[in-house]
Amino acid sequence: MKEELKNKVALVTGSYGDIGNAIAESLVLSGINVALVGRSINKLKLQKETLNKLNDAEVICVECDVKNSDEFKAAINQTYDKWKSIDILINNAGITRDNIIIRMKNDQWDDVINTNLKGTFLGCKLVSKYMLKQRYGKIINISSIIGRIGNKGQVNYAASKAGIDALTKSLSKELGPKGITVNSIAPGYIETDMTANLSDEIKNSMLDNIPLNKFGSPSDVASLVNFLISKNASYITGQIINLDGGMVTQ
Ligand code: NDP
Repeated sequence: MKEELKNKVALVTGSYGDIGNAIAESLVLSGINVALVGRSINKLKLQKETLNKLNDAEVICVECDVKNSDEFKAAINQTYDKWKSIDILINNAGITRDNIIIRMKNDQWDDVINTNLKGTFLGCKLVSKYMLKQRYGKIINISSIIGRIGNKGQVNYAASKAGIDALTKSLSKELGPKGITVNSIAPGYIETDMTANLSDEIKNSMLDNIPLNKFGSPSDVASLVNFLISKNASYITGQIINLDGGMVTQ
């Protein structure tokens, strides 16, 4: 457990997803009190039970749809009221609704933009109020290399993730002078339920494009989060950090 992080307070959206869960677990292992945020209270409660077995860091469950401004505001206020601080925000909730553009329904566009991009905007905006008061904060937005390189069938997802990266850069300039860092992690292919179900042929063609010749794991994302919230990363802000085994070298 890192002394410097003990008793800090973090909020993780999409906390019971594959990547969110790895992040929440590593935060708890660092002694950080964590607000788990997601749409299913039952899944949040199950996750809390597991996390509570790790150590005595406190965990709360907050049911919230990140597209909904009132619900997100209540989630952030509830977290602040519980611990009287909010130090770390991980905007991780995200969805895909893939389709080629001529078949893409307006709803598919709206759902992805509202969840991924507007949800990230709301989290950043609502948490800023408290972080500015504290003159301390770490905001990490989970984007994707798809936002940097694009992908067939994902104009909505790519646009949402590129938007997150642009938001990150702009916000880092606003909040940097107040002691708050804002960074994006842009994962490549991370081994989750999704990749587990792909055929060997598709997996191998994906691996051909990854110099390290393996998929990333949710714990790789959690490790980078842990670094970015540590004192060792205190001079890093406004960055989009690729976490992709070398797929994209820019
Ligand atoms: P999962 O589908 O496992 O997790 C996504 C989480 O977000 C789920 O807990 C989901 O909850 C939650 N969520 C979705 N919509 C909302 C909403 N409106 N309000 C609150 N929570 C919501 O995906 P991953 O763990 O793989 O992905 C996590 C993040 O990483 C995403 O932003 C994704 O775009 C990004 N990413 C993932 C990559 C990968 O290879 N897996 C690669 C690059 C980026 P629920 O089940 O209730 O909908």
